[in-house]
Amino acid sequence: MSGRWSGGPPTNICLTPATSCWKNVRMSDTYLRVIPTVPGWSPEDPRAAAALRVVQTLCPDGDVEIRRYDEVTFIDQGENFEDVRCPHCGTALDNAWWGDAMDHAYQNQFVDLATVTPCCSAAVSLNELNYDGPAGFAQFELSVHDPNRGWLSDKEIAQVADALGHPVRQILCHL
Ligand SMILES: [Zn+2]
Repeated sequence: MSGRWSGGPPTNICLTPATSCWKNVRMSDTYLRVIPTVPGWSPEDPRAAAALRVVQTLCPDGDVEIRRYDEVTFIDQGENFEDVRCPHCGTALDNAWWGDAMDHAYQNQFVDLATVTPCCSAAVSLNELNYDGPAGFAQFELSVHDPNRGWLSDKEIAQVADALGHPVRQILCHL
């Protein structure tokens, strides 16, 4: 289940060679990751720069940078992964099912995220599953290294969305 899209849940980390285990014993790193709610959506440069400035103001202690990806990318939560639930009925989805669904979608570089949940046969996007902690898919990201703060408030999220010109979601990633 450790496809190229991700390291998978942290329980898998030490099944792979030494480089991953080395990461596991480093000083911990936290990233606050803000992404558009629509995976393939990316802003023009001026909008990206305006949103960057807002995030810098909200996270003055962190190192804020813009990340653009050539393809839709899984923006993960690292060790904050607890489980993934069906957005329709709330059932916790089997990790193996989710890994297979991710591998399948990755064959198309995550262009098509459509899947059907095994619990209640709901037709959903992998981007709309209830990730705990939150995660998502994006080609554009505002990343804050060591933000030295917690989640952005609803009001702060709205400020970022206004500057970017698109609704956003946030992900707290712990490595
Ligand atoms: Zn369900």
